Amino acid sequence: MERGRLIAEIVKQRIEILFYLAQDVFPKDPELAKHYAKLIKELGKHYRIRLPKEIKRGICKRCGSLLMPGASASFRLASSKGFAVYKCLNCGAELHVYYKLRRST
Ligand SMILES: [Zn+2]
Repeated sequence: MERGRLIAEIVKQRIEILFYLAQDVFPKDPELAKHYAKLIKELGKHYRIRLPKEIKRGICKRCGSLLMPGASASFRLASSKGFAVYKCLNCGAELHVYYKLRRST
């Protein structure tokens, strides 16, 4: 494997582990979870890695908090528009997540 790609793979794995840790630690220590979330963003930026969807929607774009529906984020469906809305309870930023709905019309 080419060196650059190998590094990208390793960083990706670290990002996934960090995200898992962040979710795990969140109920006990939200500040630490936020720290992990920040690390994830920095790693992604530094190595120019596209964050997986589930991670992208799990971190607030504005304040970097971990978005846990029911805990640090509210969740509602805008079903007529075809997306779900996560609202960060820390800073109030909203994240729209489109879900795959294919309509023939
Ligand atoms: Zn936020």
